[in-house]
Amino acid sequence: MNLSELQNRRIAIWGMGREGTATLSFLRGEFPDKEIMIINGDDVEDAENFIPEDKMLDHLDQFDVVIKSPGISYYHDAVAKMRDHGIIVTSATNIWFALPRRGKVIAITGSNGKSTTSAMLHHMLKTIGLDVALGGNIGTPLLSLRDDADYYVVELSSYQTCDLQFAPDIAVLLNLHPEHIQWHRTHPQYYHDKCNLLRRGAAVNIVNAREPRLAETKNKVTFNDRDKIHFENGIIYNGDMPVGGTEKFPLLGDHNLENLCAALTVAAELGLVVTECLKASFTYPGLKHRLQVFGPINSRMFVNDSISTDPEATIAALNALPGEDIALIIGGEDRKQDYTDMCTLIDARENVTAICCYETGPRLYEQLTTKKKQMADNLEDAVKIAKEITPEGGYIVLSPASPSYDAFKDFEQRGDLFIEYAKT
Ligand code: ADP
Repeated sequence: MNLSELQNRRIAIWGMGREGTATLSFLRGEFPDKEIMIINGDDVEDAENFIPEDKMLDHLDQFDVVIKSPGISYYHDAVAKMRDHGIIVTSATNIWFALPRRGKVIAITGSNGKSTTSAMLHHMLKTIGLDVALGGNIGTPLLSLRDDADYYVVELSSYQTCDLQFAPDIAVLLNLHPEHIQWHRTHPQYYHDKCNLLRRGAAVNIVNAREPRLAETKNKVTFNDRDKIHFENGIIYNGDMPVGGTEKFPLLGDHNLENLCAALTVAAELGLVVTECLKASFTYPGLKHRLQVFGPINSRMFVNDSISTDPEATIAALNALPGEDIALIIGGEDRKQDYTDMCTLIDARENVTAICCYETGPRLYEQLTTKKKQMADNLEDAVKIAKEITPEGGYIVLSPASPSYDAFKDFEQRGDLFIEYAKT
């Protein structure tokens, strides 16, 4: 939906988180005299046109367009009711994509690795001297980005790709694991909504060659493909041609080498020198809460992987530390995820002890057949147990394989507390 289409319509913003707030200030800047309605669960200070969320269906005659925050499911009953009423339901992402711009847009999605790959690509392009902005799901709302960058690296969640109407210049889909069932209702719907990014008609759709569901993608360029950019025995290749070694690449785990290959494939498609971009990746500092290694503390290393909200992320964390003695803290909000593969891996790893806690804790404890398992009351207790049982030189890893919302504000709070307990 472009600005002239918005100009003459009555607008409501539904959901006043970080993105909703940025949308409001963007619209106030574009249309200083326009009344903008705010729909939110909690009261919003300072909103002159506030509608409580539980009363919004009584006010459908008051707006023509609703800009829905990504956290609110597209399949929420009220969305259908609004549509039936003739209201256009759109998103800040769609508004941003419709704005005119000179710079190229690279949109990155996937079940895991979006933030890492987006931040790494941004770092690479910046390091080689390009003018690049980073935004989207990673934290900076798109509507608050400057409009004069040469390149935009945009992280999109499945909540943002679901109803996306526009094509980026380059789309990237890293991988697909079952997730976010509450929002998308079913796993097939989740895959479909995520893959909507690839159906927008981008000139280049970069996809993981190991994901069979993506085989039919149009305008496809693969990574992790022996004929394309991939890694093998510590070397990045472009087909048969070695690009360079990965010994100086700072992130743990093969999954991060996959993310690197995806970012380098973008670089190649942009016509950049891939060896230069590989070198630039060596100074990428990494993101907090994503396999963030710190220590030693009392001769033990700590890994804060609080962002692990699904079993695939925890499998990736274990595979990144193949030979180490590990106390693995798992458990969190129960989203009925299937832990079979993760538990099989933990059972097979003699040097891993699982410490289970929170909502999924008892289920995980039951499912594991290893004797090396314990229950903990909470994160603090889990870290205490981990310190007692981990030998010197070992690793204490928080990689919960579950969301945090049953006991914490968010995964950042969970990770910050882990760091605090590690140090005390
Ligand atoms: P996202 O933004 O998609 O949530 P992040 O880069 O923040 O992804 O990483 C989230 C979690 O997924 C971390 O635990 C990380 O170790 C793991 N991870 C990152 N990349 C991959 C990948 N390619 N495959 C599997 N797991 C991954």
